Amino acid sequence: MDGKLVDFADAHVHVLSHSLHYGIAVFEGIRAYPTARGSAIFRLEDHVRRLVSSARIYQMPCPYTEPEISQAIIETQAANEVVPAYLRPILYRGEPALGVKNQKGKVSLAIGSIPARKYLGANSDSGVRAKISPFRKPRSDAIPSFAKAAGNYLNSYLAGVDAAQDGYEEAVLLDQEGFIAEGTGENIFLVRDGRLYTPGLEADILLGVTRESVKQIATDLGFPVIEKPLSVNELLTADEVFFSGTYAEIAPVREIGHTQVGTRCPGAITRQIMDVFYRTVKGEEPKYASWLTPVPTVPAPVPRAGRR
Ligand code: PMP
Repeated sequence: MDGKLVDFADAHVHVLSHSLHYGIAVFEGIRAYPTARGSAIFRLEDHVRRLVSSARIYQMPCPYTEPEISQAIIETQAANEVVPAYLRPILYRGEPALGVKNQKGKVSLAIGSIPARKYLGANSDSGVRAKISPFRKPRSDAIPSFAKAAGNYLNSYLAGVDAAQDGYEEAVLLDQEGFIAEGTGENIFLVRDGRLYTPGLEADILLGVTRESVKQIATDLGFPVIEKPLSVNELLTADEVFFSGTYAEIAPVREIGHTQVGTRCPGAITRQIMDVFYRTVKGEEPKYASWLTPVPTVPAPVPRAGRR
């Protein structure tokens, strides 16, 4: 927190903090994976760039440079030695400062680290069930989807809780025009006739780092990727559908509402993309080696003399 390693139990913020009351904080979700050469952080610089862009949108002066933030994330990961890890840098105003447009409070950076799990359940690699949410995405001229801000997740929360209460693993949110937008914490792709389709920024989505990775992998595998507005009917009749996100990774979709997607799950193209993606994060795909930042191992503490 603000440059110091703080014990998990002591990582407190004031109850009257601006960020807690108004949802004005920007954050990232990043994964560190085990590789043959130690742990590595996936697309660190892209996440840090998005964090700083999100802060700019909300006019939060970022107290650190991008390289400083990256270095702090690497050091947090090295200190925790947890893999796979989910790393959560957050820029927030943590001092007591009420008043919605109060910008005086200091902007702080904290980086949390927890053992990573699968956002859509331990078995999400073999397919999840999703429903079309009754909660739509707000338009970006109300709440910019480009920024990964805490307050955006009010919408994801409502959609996610509604889906869970109905027995689904995930929700598919539509934009205000009724086109497909994204999941509560993932982007969405569909496959039809050997091509991939995914909504563009005009659907008020977050431009996911995993989405970018999937686009690159699919293109390199020879599958064209097309960004366009997608209707619910195009989703329901797709050959394959999958979600992409840092915490969810790549999660094929088995059913949408009561409609089965395609004939088998994961579909053949989703399977190929998943294989390359999971090899990449383990450091087994030289082509995408630049997406991984190695984490130096911290030397083991020297044992104190006289104790065993
Ligand atoms: N959309 C939303 C709303 C998200 O919260 C996330 C997770 N950050 C994504 C998409 C996927 O983004 P990424 O691949 O960068 O994790």
